[in-house]
Amino acid sequence: MKVFAHTEPGGAAQELEVERPALEGSAVMIRVTNSGVCHSDVHCQDGYFDLGDAGRFELTAVGADYPLVLGHEIVGEVVAAGPDASVTLGDTKYIVFPWIGCGECQACSEDRENYCSGRKRNLSVQLDGGYAEEVYVPDERYLVPLGDIDPSFGATLACSGLTSYSAVQKVMPLPPDEPVAVIGAGGVGLMTVAVLKAVGHRNIVAVDMSDAALANASQVGASATVTVGGEDLVGDIVKAGGGKLAAAIDLVNNGDTSTAALFAMANGGTLVSVGLFGGQYRFPTALTAFNLLNIRGNFVGSLPELKELVALAQDVKLPTPPLKEVPLSVQEVNAALDGLRNRTLNGRAVLVAS
Ligand SMILES: [Zn+2]
Ligand SMILES: [Zn+2]
Repeated sequence: MKVFAHTEPGGAAQELEVERPALEGSAVMIRVTNSGVCHSDVHCQDGYFDLGDAGRFELTAVGADYPLVLGHEIVGEVVAAGPDASVTLGDTKYIVFPWIGCGECQACSEDRENYCSGRKRNLSVQLDGGYAEEVYVPDERYLVPLGDIDPSFGATLACSGLTSYSAVQKVMPLPPDEPVAVIGAGGVGLMTVAVLKAVGHRNIVAVDMSDAALANASQVGASATVTVGGEDLVGDIVKAGGGKLAAAIDLVNNGDTSTAALFAMANGGTLVSVGLFGGQYRFPTALTAFNLLNIRGNFVGSLPELKELVALAQDVKLPTPPLKEVPLSVQEVNAALDGLRNRTLNGRAVLVAS
């Protein structure tokens, strides 16, 4: 089978021919039909995440091994299954939960595999991901039936959708007219706006540097927008929301955005830090106490949260961010990653098998 793999950190993807692995237990092979290209794949392509003053977080330190196949927003069909799997082979489409933990630690035993402290098996980090004809999934339990959801949109639910859903769970419930800022209107930001709207929130302030991104945010449910670049970002955010923020979900999460969000926060407000752009909080610690603030991290989401999100997407018509479908090929993998890196890609790219 063909995979589009990175043979070392920093390079372009290359087409390689590899053997299909032997399947034990309830493992399955999925023929990839739709594979989303996520911004975190750009960091994975680099091989590290920027930790500000603390240096770099290298993927090899958490078990990434090259050649590595990126891509963790996968929809596909079961083409082979281990002896203990009960799933039937065929053309039923599934969303693959990619944030697979060790299966042994306390968090994994509580179905919170994104909190796993053991040897993770995340697809596109420790295990190969979905820029490939087929992808190995260690257990059929990680397959969530797609139902009648559009497959390219469904693919994006596994990462940007799930991250958004899990972040929104960390600020809800809130009265629907309390201001909530969504900072960063790229793929995850658009989905966050869409999920907030789907759960009934009305006062959603989208913040971004790009007016095109903000136009997308308005389309999927933002009630106000703020273009970064004015002299008083905090004042602009507070004005757009009609008051200080009850919560902010920061999909950029660099030193500037996290600091602005904290200064714009009402007493008791919650900042959910999601983005991986790197930097440091620059905020008086005493104000965190005086203002009773909550600062929470969010990294992707759990398998139960993905099932809830898929049920939500089947129930409520979630607004679809702009999707650009391109052929599943090594050229398009590289073009999509470059487009994300250079900010020339508006909306989401999804690789689609022919
Ligand atoms: Zn992702
Ligand atoms: Zn674990």
